Amino acid sequence: TRNKATYILVSVFDLTEQHKLAQLRSDFIANASHELKTPLTALIGCLETLEEIADEKNEIQTKFLNMGLEQANRMQGLVLDLLSLNQVEMQEHRPPATIINLTEIIHDVVSSLLKRSEQACITIVDRLPASLPVVGDQRQMNQVFVNLIENAIKYGREGGQVVVSVSEEPAPRSGMVGVAVEDNGIGIARMDVPRLTERFYRVSHGKSGTGLGLAIVKHIISRHRGHLTIGSQPGQGSVFTVWLPTGSTSEKYV
Ligand code: ADP
Repeated sequence: TRNKATYILVSVFDLTEQHKLAQLRSDFIANASHELKTPLTALIGCLETLEEIADEKNEIQTKFLNMGLEQANRMQGLVLDLLSLNQVEMQEHRPPATIINLTEIIHDVVSSLLKRSEQACITIVDRLPASLPVVGDQRQMNQVFVNLIENAIKYGREGGQVVVSVSEEPAPRSGMVGVAVEDNGIGIARMDVPRLTERFYRVSHGKSGTGLGLAIVKHIISRHRGHLTIGSQPGQGSVFTVWLPTGSTSEKYV
């Protein structure tokens, strides 16, 4: 009988080419979005001026002006989201090191979205403690919670609630805290949940949006070495939980 030998297979991949391609793609998106931004801003300016001097009684004129403005604003949203996503991706390998008070940031976000929630007849319920220290980037965390709370309002139920609280679920890793944004709106089908953070993936096409918001959220959280969990019951509501490394309370906030 032959002796049994143990073999180990070692595979080495040279990723230089892949990194170069990723950089090229990223540069192209940044340049293209930047170039589109200037003429778009000018176009929106022209349309707004036209709207001011337009004859309100001329229904056709008003209709086409409104359509033009709506589409130009939509395009501007796309360009800004693409630039944002690109910026976040480029920073992803450098995690933030500052300690921030997440409660304060979320309070600012809630205040900025109050008008929108009132228009949708949705109450935002804040159940956060006064201080919630995490290791994070202030501006990016603001963006994460704007996107999540805006979605909770947009896909929430008229007359319903959006609750922001510290999650009671077990943390995916020790030393993490989770903030849950919960709505009681339309919910998401089980098969769509894993794909929500893909770029341009949208389920409800009836509402305005770019399909980039959750992709931005995912990349920011990944830069923070955090975790995003999504739970939902179609017709009942959804809960998006952002898990982040906790900051020590003895350290000073930025
Ligand atoms: P959008 O600009 O379309 O809102 P997002 O990336 O923010 O893009 O979200 C992707 C899709 O996920 C949305 O089009 C919507 O179908 C779904 N979605 C996001 N948040 C919620 C929510 N709170 N409830 C139900 N569906 C949601």
